[in-house]
Amino acid sequence: MTFRPHHRTAAFFVLAAAAAAAAASFEFLSMRRSDAVHPSGALTRSAMLSDYAPSLRDTPGDTPVYIFDSGVPGGTALVLGGTHPNESAGFIAAVLLAENVRPTRGRVIIVPQACASGFTATDPLEACPTHFTIETAGGPRRFRFGARGGNPLHQWPDPLVYRHFPSGQQLSGMESRNLNRSYPGREEGTFMERVGHAFLSLIRTENVSVAFDLHEAAPEVMIINAIITHEKGTDIAAGAVLNLEFEDLKYSLEISPKRFHGLSHREWGDSTGAVPFLMETSNPVQGRLRGVTDEALVLEGNDPFYRTAAALGTVRITYRPEGEPLSLRVARHVQGFRRLMESFNETYPDAACTFEAVPDYTEILEAGVGRYLR
Ligand SMILES: [Zn+2]
Repeated sequence: MTFRPHHRTAAFFVLAAAAAAAAASFEFLSMRRSDAVHPSGALTRSAMLSDYAPSLRDTPGDTPVYIFDSGVPGGTALVLGGTHPNESAGFIAAVLLAENVRPTRGRVIIVPQACASGFTATDPLEACPTHFTIETAGGPRRFRFGARGGNPLHQWPDPLVYRHFPSGQQLSGMESRNLNRSYPGREEGTFMERVGHAFLSLIRTENVSVAFDLHEAAPEVMIINAIITHEKGTDIAAGAVLNLEFEDLKYSLEISPKRFHGLSHREWGDSTGAVPFLMETSNPVQGRLRGVTDEALVLEGNDPFYRTAAALGTVRITYRPEGEPLSLRVARHVQGFRRLMESFNETYPDAACTFEAVPDYTEILEAGVGRYLR
Protein backbone atom coordinates (compact mmCIF):
# COMPACT_ATOMS: atom_id res chain seq x y z
CA MET A 1 0.00 0.00 0.00
CA THR A 2 1.40 3.38 -0.93
CA PHE A 3 1.16 6.31 1.47
CA ARG A 4 -1.23 8.93 0.01
CA PRO A 5 -2.16 12.48 1.20
CA HIS A 6 -5.51 11.32 2.65
CA HIS A 7 -3.63 8.78 4.79
CA ARG A 8 -1.62 11.67 6.20
CA THR A 9 -4.87 13.54 7.03
CA ALA A 10 -6.31 10.42 8.66
CA ALA A 11 -3.14 9.87 10.69
CA PHE A 12 -3.26 13.51 11.82
CA PHE A 13 -6.86 13.15 13.07
CA VAL A 14 -6.12 9.85 14.83
CA LEU A 15 -3.14 11.42 16.62
CA ALA A 16 -5.10 14.60 17.46
CA ALA A 17 -7.96 12.49 18.88
CA ALA A 18 -5.49 10.42 20.93
CA ALA A 19 -3.89 13.62 22.30
CA ALA A 20 -7.29 15.07 23.23
CA ALA A 21 -8.30 11.77 24.89
CA ALA A 22 -5.01 11.65 26.82
CA ALA A 23 -5.49 15.21 28.10
CA ALA A 24 -9.13 14.52 29.03
CA SER A 25 -8.29 11.27 30.82
CA PHE A 26 -5.51 13.01 32.75
CA GLU A 27 -8.04 15.61 33.97
CA PHE A 28 -10.65 12.89 34.63
CA LEU A 29 -8.23 10.84 36.72
CA SER A 30 -7.02 13.96 38.60
CA MET A 31 -10.48 14.10 40.19
CA ARG A 32 -9.71 10.86 42.06
CA ARG A 33 -6.93 12.54 44.06
CA SER A 34 -8.32 13.52 47.46
CA ASP A 35 -8.35 17.09 48.73
CA ALA A 36 -6.09 17.88 51.67
CA VAL A 37 -7.77 18.90 54.93
CA HIS A 38 -5.58 20.01 57.86
CA PRO A 39 -7.66 19.66 61.05
CA SER A 40 -7.10 22.08 63.93
CA GLY A 41 -4.85 21.11 66.84
CA ALA A 42 -7.99 20.21 68.81
CA LEU A 43 -8.48 17.03 66.73
CA THR A 44 -8.71 14.04 69.04
CA ARG A 45 -9.56 11.25 66.59
CA SER A 46 -9.50 10.76 62.85
CA ALA A 47 -11.99 8.11 61.77
CA MET A 48 -13.46 6.91 58.49
CA LEU A 49 -17.15 6.62 57.62
CA SER A 50 -16.58 2.88 57.08
CA ASP A 51 -15.79 2.58 60.81
CA TYR A 52 -19.56 2.96 61.25
CA ALA A 53 -20.52 0.72 58.30
CA PRO A 54 -17.78 -1.79 57.40
CA SER A 55 -19.31 -2.59 53.99
CA LEU A 56 -18.09 0.83 52.82
CA ARG A 57 -14.43 0.04 53.53
CA ASP A 58 -12.22 0.36 50.43
CA THR A 59 -15.13 1.72 48.40
CA PRO A 60 -15.42 5.19 46.83
CA GLY A 61 -18.12 5.96 49.43
CA ASP A 62 -15.65 6.03 52.31
CA THR A 63 -14.65 9.46 53.63
CA PRO A 64 -12.72 10.97 56.57
CA VAL A 65 -14.56 11.82 59.81
CA TYR A 66 -12.81 14.32 62.12
CA ILE A 67 -13.66 14.17 65.82
CA PHE A 68 -12.86 17.07 68.17
CA ASP A 69 -13.50 16.24 71.81
CA SER A 70 -13.21 18.95 74.48
CA GLY A 71 -12.96 16.31 77.21
CA VAL A 72 -15.75 18.17 79.04
CA PRO A 73 -19.09 16.31 79.16
CA GLY A 74 -21.75 17.79 76.89
CA GLY A 75 -23.47 17.16 73.59
CA THR A 76 -22.13 16.21 70.16
CA ALA A 77 -22.56 18.38 67.08
CA LEU A 78 -22.15 16.85 63.62
CA VAL A 79 -21.43 18.93 60.51
CA LEU A 80 -21.59 17.53 56.96
CA GLY A 81 -20.20 19.39 53.96
CA GLY A 82 -20.11 18.06 50.42
CA THR A 83 -23.38 16.14 50.47
CA HIS A 84 -23.67 17.75 47.03
CA PRO A 85 -20.05 18.24 45.90
CA ASN A 86 -20.97 20.95 43.35
CA GLU A 87 -22.17 23.16 46.24
CA SER A 88 -18.69 24.42 47.11
CA ALA A 89 -19.63 26.74 50.01
CA GLY A 90 -21.06 23.81 52.00
CA PHE A 91 -17.85 21.82 51.48
CA ILE A 92 -15.48 24.73 52.21
CA ALA A 93 -17.48 25.86 55.29
CA ALA A 94 -17.00 22.35 56.72
CA VAL A 95 -13.25 22.47 55.88
CA LEU A 96 -12.97 25.89 57.57
CA LEU A 97 -14.72 24.56 60.69
CA ALA A 98 -12.47 21.46 60.78
CA GLU A 99 -9.33 23.59 60.43
CA ASN A 100 -10.25 26.07 63.19
CA VAL A 101 -12.69 24.65 65.74
CA ARG A 102 -11.63 24.15 69.37
CA PRO A 103 -14.47 22.71 71.44
CA THR A 104 -14.69 23.88 75.05
CA ARG A 105 -17.59 21.61 76.00
CA GLY A 106 -18.87 18.43 74.33
CA ARG A 107 -17.69 17.31 70.90
CA VAL A 108 -17.77 18.48 67.29
CA ILE A 109 -17.62 15.89 64.48
CA ILE A 110 -16.97 17.12 60.94
CA VAL A 111 -17.24 15.29 57.60
CA PRO A 112 -16.21 17.79 54.89
CA GLN A 113 -16.91 15.46 51.93
CA ALA A 114 -20.03 13.50 52.81
CA CYS A 115 -20.57 12.21 49.27
CA ALA A 116 -16.98 11.23 48.45
CA SER A 117 -18.06 9.53 45.21
CA GLY A 118 -19.53 12.77 43.85
CA PHE A 119 -16.16 14.50 44.16
CA THR A 120 -14.65 12.18 41.52
CA ALA A 121 -16.63 13.55 38.56
CA THR A 122 -18.45 16.64 37.34
CA ASP A 123 -22.03 16.63 36.06
CA PRO A 124 -22.29 15.93 32.33
CA LEU A 125 -23.26 18.84 30.03
CA GLU A 126 -22.72 21.48 32.74
CA ALA A 127 -19.22 22.62 31.61
CA CYS A 128 -18.14 23.05 35.23
CA PRO A 129 -14.47 23.28 36.25
CA THR A 130 -12.97 20.19 37.91
CA HIS A 131 -11.14 22.23 40.57
CA PHE A 132 -10.92 25.70 42.07
CA THR A 133 -8.06 27.38 43.90
CA ILE A 134 -8.24 29.43 47.09
CA GLU A 135 -5.31 31.66 48.04
CA THR A 136 -4.20 31.18 51.65
CA ALA A 137 -1.35 32.63 53.75
CA GLY A 138 0.60 29.40 53.13
CA GLY A 139 0.05 29.44 49.35
CA PRO A 140 -2.71 28.37 46.96
CA ARG A 141 -4.94 25.41 47.86
CA ARG A 142 -6.77 23.47 45.18
CA PHE A 143 -10.11 21.80 45.88
CA ARG A 144 -12.29 19.61 43.73
CA PHE A 145 -15.57 20.81 42.23
CA GLY A 146 -17.67 17.67 41.91
CA ALA A 147 -21.12 16.59 40.83
CA ARG A 148 -24.48 16.76 42.55
CA GLY A 149 -24.78 12.99 42.84
CA GLY A 150 -22.48 10.02 43.14
CA ASN A 151 -20.26 9.07 40.20
CA PRO A 152 -22.26 6.83 37.77
CA LEU A 153 -19.20 4.53 37.65
CA HIS A 154 -19.92 3.70 41.29
CA GLN A 155 -23.64 3.02 40.88
CA TRP A 156 -24.90 2.01 37.48
CA PRO A 157 -27.33 2.06 35.76
CA ASP A 158 -29.83 4.60 37.06
CA PRO A 159 -33.31 3.08 37.28
CA LEU A 160 -36.08 4.74 35.28
CA VAL A 161 -37.82 5.53 38.56
CA TYR A 162 -36.07 5.69 41.94
CA ARG A 163 -38.14 4.15 44.72
CA HIS A 164 -37.00 5.47 48.08
CA PHE A 165 -36.51 2.92 50.85
CA PRO A 166 -38.51 2.44 53.01
CA SER A 167 -41.24 4.96 52.10
CA GLY A 168 -41.73 3.81 48.48
CA GLN A 169 -41.74 7.48 47.39
CA GLN A 170 -40.97 7.73 43.66
CA LEU A 171 -38.45 10.14 42.20
CA SER A 172 -36.60 10.48 38.90
CA GLY A 173 -34.02 7.69 38.37
CA MET A 174 -30.94 9.89 38.72
CA GLU A 175 -31.98 10.77 42.29
CA SER A 176 -30.95 7.22 43.24
CA ARG A 177 -27.37 8.61 43.29
CA ASN A 178 -28.33 11.65 45.39
CA LEU A 179 -27.13 11.20 48.99
CA ASN A 180 -29.75 13.67 50.16
CA ARG A 181 -32.53 11.41 48.88
CA SER A 182 -30.94 8.22 50.22
CA TYR A 183 -31.56 8.44 53.98
CA PRO A 184 -32.13 6.43 56.12
CA GLY A 185 -30.54 4.00 53.66
CA ARG A 186 -29.90 0.34 54.32
CA GLU A 187 -26.91 -1.87 54.95
CA GLU A 188 -27.49 -4.19 52.00
CA GLY A 189 -28.87 -1.55 49.64
CA THR A 190 -27.49 0.29 46.63
CA PHE A 191 -24.13 2.06 46.93
CA MET A 192 -25.78 5.38 47.90
CA GLU A 193 -28.23 3.70 50.31
CA ARG A 194 -25.20 2.19 52.05
CA VAL A 195 -23.58 5.65 52.35
CA GLY A 196 -26.86 7.02 53.78
CA HIS A 197 -27.07 4.13 56.22
CA ALA A 198 -23.45 4.76 57.32
CA PHE A 199 -24.32 8.32 58.36
CA LEU A 200 -27.34 7.11 60.35
CA SER A 201 -25.04 4.59 62.01
CA LEU A 202 -22.49 7.37 62.79
CA ILE A 203 -25.24 9.56 64.31
CA ARG A 204 -26.46 6.70 66.52
CA THR A 205 -23.01 5.37 67.50
CA GLU A 206 -21.64 8.79 68.41
CA ASN A 207 -24.92 9.80 70.07
CA VAL A 208 -25.09 13.00 67.99
CA SER A 209 -27.39 15.58 69.57
CA VAL A 210 -27.49 18.22 66.82
CA ALA A 211 -26.59 17.79 63.14
CA PHE A 212 -25.98 20.11 60.17
CA ASP A 213 -26.03 19.48 56.44
CA LEU A 214 -24.53 22.41 54.46
CA HIS A 215 -25.88 23.05 50.95
CA GLU A 216 -26.28 25.61 48.18
CA ALA A 217 -28.84 26.03 45.43
CA ALA A 218 -29.37 28.11 42.29
CA PRO A 219 -30.47 31.74 42.81
CA GLU A 220 -33.85 30.95 41.20
CA VAL A 221 -34.66 28.14 43.65
CA MET A 222 -37.40 29.18 46.11
CA ILE A 223 -35.68 27.83 49.24
CA ILE A 224 -32.46 29.83 49.37
CA ASN A 225 -30.51 31.64 52.11
CA ALA A 226 -32.59 29.40 54.30
CA ILE A 227 -32.46 27.22 57.38
CA ILE A 228 -34.56 24.08 56.96
CA THR A 229 -35.43 22.28 60.14
CA HIS A 230 -37.11 19.10 61.28
CA GLU A 231 -40.11 19.99 63.49
CA LYS A 232 -37.99 19.02 66.52
CA GLY A 233 -35.80 22.08 65.85
CA THR A 234 -38.43 24.71 65.02
CA ASP A 235 -38.01 26.79 68.20
CA ILE A 236 -34.21 26.51 68.06
CA ALA A 237 -34.17 27.65 64.42
CA ALA A 238 -36.64 30.48 65.11
CA GLY A 239 -34.39 31.78 67.91
CA ALA A 240 -31.34 31.63 65.64
CA VAL A 241 -33.13 33.34 62.72
CA LEU A 242 -34.17 36.16 65.08
CA ASN A 243 -30.62 36.65 66.36
CA LEU A 244 -29.27 36.58 62.80
CA GLU A 245 -31.87 39.23 61.90
CA PHE A 246 -30.42 41.48 64.61
CA GLU A 247 -27.10 41.22 62.76
CA ASP A 248 -28.84 42.19 59.52
CA LEU A 249 -28.53 38.66 58.14
CA LYS A 250 -31.75 37.31 56.64
CA TYR A 251 -32.38 33.56 56.66
CA SER A 252 -35.81 32.21 55.82
CA LEU A 253 -37.05 29.49 58.12
CA GLU A 254 -38.51 26.41 56.42
CA ILE A 255 -40.00 23.38 58.09
CA SER A 256 -39.08 20.03 56.55
CA PRO A 257 -42.16 18.58 54.79
CA LYS A 258 -43.24 15.45 56.70
CA ARG A 259 -43.96 13.44 53.57
CA PHE A 260 -40.88 14.34 51.52
CA HIS A 261 -38.57 11.42 52.22
CA GLY A 262 -34.88 10.68 51.91
CA LEU A 263 -33.59 14.09 53.04
CA SER A 264 -31.23 14.62 55.95
CA HIS A 265 -33.49 17.11 57.76
CA ARG A 266 -36.37 14.61 57.59
CA GLU A 267 -34.79 11.18 58.11
CA TRP A 268 -32.04 12.08 60.63
CA GLY A 269 -34.78 13.68 62.74
CA ASP A 270 -37.26 10.81 62.34
CA SER A 271 -34.78 7.96 62.85
CA THR A 272 -32.29 9.25 65.42
CA GLY A 273 -32.12 11.40 68.55
CA ALA A 274 -30.36 14.24 66.67
CA VAL A 275 -31.98 17.60 65.92
CA PRO A 276 -31.12 18.23 62.24
CA PHE A 277 -30.73 21.49 60.31
CA LEU A 278 -29.96 22.06 56.64
CA MET A 279 -28.70 25.39 55.32
CA GLU A 280 -28.76 26.75 51.76
CA THR A 281 -26.88 29.67 50.20
CA SER A 282 -27.35 31.24 46.75
CA ASN A 283 -24.91 29.82 44.20
CA PRO A 284 -25.05 31.02 40.56
CA VAL A 285 -22.80 28.12 39.43
CA GLN A 286 -25.83 25.87 39.82
CA GLY A 287 -28.27 28.19 38.06
CA ARG A 288 -29.87 27.89 34.64
CA LEU A 289 -29.32 31.58 33.74
CA ARG A 290 -25.55 31.52 34.17
CA GLY A 291 -23.00 32.20 31.44
CA VAL A 292 -19.34 31.13 31.49
CA THR A 293 -18.89 28.51 34.22
CA ASP A 294 -15.31 28.71 35.40
CA GLU A 295 -13.26 28.91 38.59
CA ALA A 296 -13.94 32.66 38.79
CA LEU A 297 -17.69 31.99 38.95
CA VAL A 298 -17.16 29.44 41.76
CA LEU A 299 -15.04 31.95 43.72
CA GLU A 300 -16.66 35.29 42.89
CA GLY A 301 -20.24 34.19 42.18
CA ASN A 302 -20.48 37.13 39.82
CA ASP A 303 -22.43 36.39 36.65
CA PRO A 304 -23.53 39.03 34.08
CA PHE A 305 -26.77 37.22 33.27
CA TYR A 306 -27.84 36.99 36.92
CA ARG A 307 -26.85 40.65 37.33
CA THR A 308 -29.13 41.60 34.44
CA ALA A 309 -31.94 39.38 35.70
CA ALA A 310 -31.65 40.95 39.17
CA ALA A 311 -31.72 44.46 37.67
CA LEU A 312 -34.74 43.69 35.48
CA GLY A 313 -36.58 42.01 38.30
CA THR A 314 -38.46 39.78 35.83
CA VAL A 315 -37.32 36.55 37.50
CA ARG A 316 -37.65 35.88 41.20
CA ILE A 317 -34.04 35.28 42.21
CA THR A 318 -31.95 35.68 45.35
CA TYR A 319 -28.88 37.37 43.96
CA ARG A 320 -26.91 40.43 45.06
CA PRO A 321 -25.96 42.77 42.17
CA GLU A 322 -22.33 42.60 43.34
CA GLY A 323 -22.39 38.79 43.17
CA GLU A 324 -22.44 35.91 45.66
CA PRO A 325 -18.74 35.25 46.39
CA LEU A 326 -17.60 32.04 48.05
CA SER A 327 -16.38 33.94 51.15
CA LEU A 328 -19.85 35.41 51.67
CA ARG A 329 -21.57 32.04 51.17
CA VAL A 330 -19.15 30.29 53.57
CA ALA A 331 -19.56 33.15 56.09
CA ARG A 332 -23.35 32.66 56.00
CA HIS A 333 -22.99 28.91 56.68
CA VAL A 334 -20.56 29.45 59.55
CA GLN A 335 -22.63 32.22 61.15
CA GLY A 336 -25.81 30.14 60.78
CA PHE A 337 -24.01 27.24 62.47
CA ARG A 338 -22.82 29.49 65.32
CA ARG A 339 -26.26 30.98 66.01
CA LEU A 340 -28.07 27.64 65.69
CA MET A 341 -25.61 26.11 68.16
CA GLU A 342 -26.18 28.97 70.66
CA SER A 343 -29.92 28.50 70.33
CA PHE A 344 -29.58 24.70 70.66
CA ASN A 345 -27.44 25.08 73.81
CA GLU A 346 -30.10 27.31 75.41
CA THR A 347 -32.81 24.75 74.67
CA TYR A 348 -30.79 21.66 75.67
CA PRO A 349 -28.27 22.83 78.32
CA ASP A 350 -27.43 19.22 79.25
CA ALA A 351 -26.42 18.47 75.65
CA ALA A 352 -24.68 21.80 75.14
CA CYS A 353 -21.66 21.91 72.90
CA THR A 354 -19.52 25.05 72.91
CA PHE A 355 -16.38 25.93 70.98
CA GLU A 356 -13.98 28.75 70.25
CA ALA A 357 -11.62 29.86 67.46
CA VAL A 358 -14.33 29.75 64.77
CA PRO A 359 -14.34 33.08 62.90
CA ASP A 360 -17.62 34.97 62.64
CA TYR A 361 -19.46 36.30 59.60
CA THR A 362 -17.73 39.69 59.46
CA GLU A 363 -14.25 38.19 59.94
CA ILE A 364 -14.67 35.70 57.09
CA LEU A 365 -16.21 38.30 54.80
CA GLU A 366 -13.54 40.92 55.49
CA ALA A 367 -10.43 38.72 55.48
CA GLY A 368 -11.70 36.21 52.89
CA VAL A 369 -12.17 32.49 53.41
CA GLY A 370 -8.51 31.74 52.53
CA ARG A 371 -7.37 33.56 55.67
CA TYR A 372 -8.99 30.78 57.75
CA LEU A 373 -7.65 27.79 55.82
CA ARG A 374 -4.38 26.36 57.13
ZN1 LIG B 1 -27.67 20.55 47.93
